[in-house]
Amino acid sequence: MFRRLVALLVCASLLPAQAQALPDLGDASDAALSEKQETTIGNRIMREIRVDPAFLDDPEISDYLRALGERLLNSSDPPRRNVEFFIVKDESVNAFALIGGHIGIHSGLFLLTRSEAELAGVVAHEIAHLLQRHQSRLHQAQTKFQLASLAAFALGIIAASRGSSSQSGQIAEAALTSAGAIAIQGQLNYTRDHEREADRVGLVLLERAGFDPRGMVTFFERMQRANRLAEFKGAPSYLRTHPLTVERIADMQSRVDTMAPRLGPDSFEYRLARAKLRALSGAPAEAIAWFRGQLASQTVLRPREEVFGLAFALRRARDFDAAFRELAVIREGKSTHPAFELLHAQLLADLKRTDASLAAFESAIKAYPYHRGLAYGHAEALIEAGRPADAVALLVQRTKLYPDEAIAFELLSKGYAATGQRLLQHRAQAEAYYRRGNLGRAVDQLELATRVRQSDDFDMAIAEARLRELRSLLQVQKEAEKALKIS
Ligand SMILES: [Zn+2]
Repeated sequence: MFRRLVALLVCASLLPAQAQALPDLGDASDAALSEKQETTIGNRIMREIRVDPAFLDDPEISDYLRALGERLLNSSDPPRRNVEFFIVKDESVNAFALIGGHIGIHSGLFLLTRSEAELAGVVAHEIAHLLQRHQSRLHQAQTKFQLASLAAFALGIIAASRGSSSQSGQIAEAALTSAGAIAIQGQLNYTRDHEREADRVGLVLLERAGFDPRGMVTFFERMQRANRLAEFKGAPSYLRTHPLTVERIADMQSRVDTMAPRLGPDSFEYRLARAKLRALSGAPAEAIAWFRGQLASQTVLRPREEVFGLAFALRRARDFDAAFRELAVIREGKSTHPAFELLHAQLLADLKRTDASLAAFESAIKAYPYHRGLAYGHAEALIEAGRPADAVALLVQRTKLYPDEAIAFELLSKGYAATGQRLLQHRAQAEAYYRRGNLGRAVDQLELATRVRQSDDFDMAIAEARLRELRSLLQVQKEAEKALKIS
């Protein structure tokens, strides 16, 4: 039963824009949520998701996925903005669009893709669901109060999952997937139409963005085969949400046949993100064995991303020497990459070669000044090396250049803690929570900040002003959530 409810919630992201034109949303008979209300619900759910261990916060992989998503979004007409893309560390094969414009991709799905066009195909399909808002008719009969109570229900499920001994991945599964929904509602035909529409729109996005549209077909075919053979765990999750039929594949195929194929290799960024995700998933020993097996079958050319994946997994297993040796091979000559340099500098720190590590960070940042992983790795290494004041100086600069990055404020808070600046520590932590959409915790931190004795008057004045500001924002949010019964 709950799956159906959650599904409705997820599909509610596709409610119609015309809701904004309704004169008064105070009436319980109003058929749909306003965009603002959608945002409120989406943010409420994301607040839970972002603190879930299954939510992957890796700058390199996140930046890759965001760049891919934005390339597709830019191909929509008019270009859609403000969609958040994120990875859920969960081995089941799934992807979903969440109310308010959030698209989640399970690591299991990412790892199942064999080409960048395949991954782009799934992302394009999810974007198409958002763009088309085509499921609105399905849910127009729901009042906003019914929809909102579904949100409350979903939050209840998250809380219940968190309270139990279940794996974090299952939280995402329970709260986020609209698995099984459509079938339970007995609206399979209706949904098939929408699936076909999402396929068509998705294919256009793929082609315009310069991906090979055949990727979408090959990936869906593989999922269907896998589903039939029950070849790997979790294959059906995606298919429960997005019913896949022979007709759908045939329809995609006939469209793709009229499109020009795009040949050419995958971007290295895709291959690297996939390798890193694999190296991050499951037990380190399993990842090591997987990469060793792959590399053993490559006699002539060892793909650099697989060597990197092996080195990364070896680091997870704390075999720093072996990781260092593997990585050295792909850092030779001009073939290096900022991800390799980051791992290299981190391994030097692991091997207690602190000065060499910091020097490696500095020279890598000179070569790749825009790489987020390097910037944050460097700040972390400085704190670890007992130089928090230097880390703070870098991070203050960074937060001025990139004021939206929660991770910068988190590290800044750590740096201030190490230098004993408690007021600034809480203030930075508040800014991090604020950027992660958690106003409640941000206010808590600012309250702590304003209670720190013997602090600079100017810093205190800023903390007090910010506290007043965030308190009033929190009040507005609470009222909006209360109205939707999701507080
Ligand atoms: Zn779909």
